[in-house]
Amino acid sequence: MTPINNAPRLLLRRLQMIMAGTGSADDRLQDIMQLIANNMVCEVCSVYFIRSSDVLELFATEGLQRQAIHQTRLKFGEGLVGFIALSGRPQAFADAQEHPKFVLRPETGEEDYHSMLGVPIMRAGKVVGVLAVQNKSKRFYIAEEIEALQTVAMVLAEFVAGGELFESLEQSEETSERSTTTRFEGQVFAEGLAEGTAVLHEPKIEVLRHLSKNPTRQKRRLTKALNDLTAQIDQIMSAEDLKHHGEHREILDVYKLFAKDKGWKKKISAAIGTGLTAEAAVEKIQTDNRNRMLSTEDPYLRERLHDLDDLANRLNRHLMGKVGTAASADLPDNTILLAQNMGPAELLEYDRTKLKAVILKEGSPLAHVAIVARALGITMVGQVKGAIDHVEEGEQVIVNGLEGTVYFSPQSEILQGYQENIAQRSELLASYDALKDKRAITKDGVEIELLLNAGLAIDMESMHKSGAKGVGLFRTEFQFMVSDTLPRVKSQAEFYGAILDEASGKPVTFRTLDIGGDKPVSFLKREAEVNPALGWRAIRISFDRPALLRYQIRALLIASSGRDLNIMFPMIATVSEFIMAKEILQKEVDRHAKAGRTLPKTLKVGTMLEVPSLLWQMDELLPLTDFISVGSNDLMQFFFACDRENPKLNGRYDILSAPALKMLKLIADKCHEYDVPVTLCGEAGGQPITALTLMALGYRRFSISSSSIGPVKMAIRRLNLKKFEKNINLLLSRSDHSLRNQIQLYMQDYSGNG
Ligand code: PEP
Ligand code: MG
Repeated sequence: MTPINNAPRLLLRRLQMIMAGTGSADDRLQDIMQLIANNMVCEVCSVYFIRSSDVLELFATEGLQRQAIHQTRLKFGEGLVGFIALSGRPQAFADAQEHPKFVLRPETGEEDYHSMLGVPIMRAGKVVGVLAVQNKSKRFYIAEEIEALQTVAMVLAEFVAGGELFESLEQSEETSERSTTTRFEGQVFAEGLAEGTAVLHEPKIEVLRHLSKNPTRQKRRLTKALNDLTAQIDQIMSAEDLKHHGEHREILDVYKLFAKDKGWKKKISAAIGTGLTAEAAVEKIQTDNRNRMLSTEDPYLRERLHDLDDLANRLNRHLMGKVGTAASADLPDNTILLAQNMGPAELLEYDRTKLKAVILKEGSPLAHVAIVARALGITMVGQVKGAIDHVEEGEQVIVNGLEGTVYFSPQSEILQGYQENIAQRSELLASYDALKDKRAITKDGVEIELLLNAGLAIDMESMHKSGAKGVGLFRTEFQFMVSDTLPRVKSQAEFYGAILDEASGKPVTFRTLDIGGDKPVSFLKREAEVNPALGWRAIRISFDRPALLRYQIRALLIASSGRDLNIMFPMIATVSEFIMAKEILQKEVDRHAKAGRTLPKTLKVGTMLEVPSLLWQMDELLPLTDFISVGSNDLMQFFFACDRENPKLNGRYDILSAPALKMLKLIADKCHEYDVPVTLCGEAGGQPITALTLMALGYRRFSISSSSIGPVKMAIRRLNLKKFEKNINLLLSRSDHSLRNQIQLYMQDYSGNG
């Protein structure tokens, strides 16, 4: 075989003519095999496509035995064709039969052929087939040949996209179910079980048109898309759009470098010059990059591959005018959303009647997106590696948000198991429901107050349904996060008023705005921060933009005229800050009174305790405050210097450890000394084991998500607190990294019949 003797442009043009022809799909594919074999001077050209999730089937061949078509099948990883599919990269072998992976399929008659070059056929980033050429002589294939075959493979992907190839086959075969189910494991972020249809939050781009006769126009499109891409990255980096806070700056820097890289643009332009559309050229260059990076030993470069894939995907979205997320699309009724990661505001953009579950590749259970998912009753599983690359849009998915597992294309036994799980869960939920009007009281008569963490209007319905005694934490920022403009006093007052109406006399504790960190608002410009969780957020913003806080307090006073009002401030780090916040509040109260408006019947003012510095001012703070609310999410992240959103640190430090419990005990003891009510409102209180342990340390009030009220109440009602308490306090002097296992044992001992 000699190197390619035709320019790729000519080959592509002929290919296009065949593809646009009128014969059957099988005949056209056969003609394509002949064209490639002739053009590349090879004796054999064959194409394999994936029929079920892990089986490659010979669809057409020039040179091998025709009777092997639709008969020869290889598993992913089996034989050299399977090996190419599995590796996702081109592979060339001068003597294929000597390769340990070689498997002879006698029906193909390939024993006479020694050298082989195969490339994967990719569609939307996934391998959908393999295109291979073979020669009798033991020869080497040069880089230009490999590139040419890759370009042809890209165009062949259009055949798969058209679906024609599979139609006739599917009619003659009964199989409609994918032969294998794929299972991924992750971590439970929001409990639940769901079944539905896969939708990608940021849709993968599928290049539908590969060939163009007008390279000048394609290059213009490329320039515009690159400019738009750079502007988009600049916008993300300006931190105005902080919902992308999860994206590391380092990655964005790489994006920016690449988006502006002349070499990248030059390579894409050259590919356009061979007759490709701009989007096909981007895909081709990314395939080349991928192959180069996969063959490097440098782990850093290999890790960057995902970023570059993402960047190429973004560029193609600009080229194809598909920049938004799936939130604005017409969603299937049972949507299972898949995303790399997302912010709480992005989640709130989805139609909640259709969204059943979310699968995140990254994320952390303490991130606000997980908190919002729990509030909305949307099952969420995070840290699911690989799923997003594997899934096909429209595929059936089961999300087991009790175990943290995800199944794609589940087979009937798994579906049946899921139905059984649903039935068991309904029973369990019914047992929680049965406790709704029962007291949260231990066997030895200690009563606990269970309150709800809320932030959305629909939470109030959950409050009644769950039997919570009120709202211990109302996160007011959610209303601001879903609004493009600053909500006016009137609309804030209406919202708070409606919440109080819905509460029907049960207490509600409103927390003033806690924006910043991972809670962005579109109307407030903020500069990028290296450590947003430690940065300009919560009360710090309120002090620097006092009008924000003043208007919010004004709205709260209007909403609660003649009723009870409980307010608390987030992220208070020193007593002086609490005093300052109270002064602002007092000014608004005076203003309200002066205007002749009805004041709230009672006004209680408290503070969140989530910054450890406040612990050393408890004696000064407690006489000034009506109540304390321990925000264990933030308190733990600052206490252990452990970012609550960093998936790598997830689970590294346990709240059920001696240092954390000693600190929490100190807070409870101090509050009792000063007779100041203390509530724990972090997510940890929603886990029965943590709630019981904190009860042993003196906590009697918890504010938790609605789905946790039942399980926590059930655990409380089974507990003999006195015995449990004694043992927990003895554990505090131990030096184990976590006390979870010992506490678990005590829980068994002192729950139930104890
Ligand atoms: C906390 O930090 O524990 C808390 C309740 O506040 P948020 O999760 O909203 O930061
Ligand atoms: Mg907090």
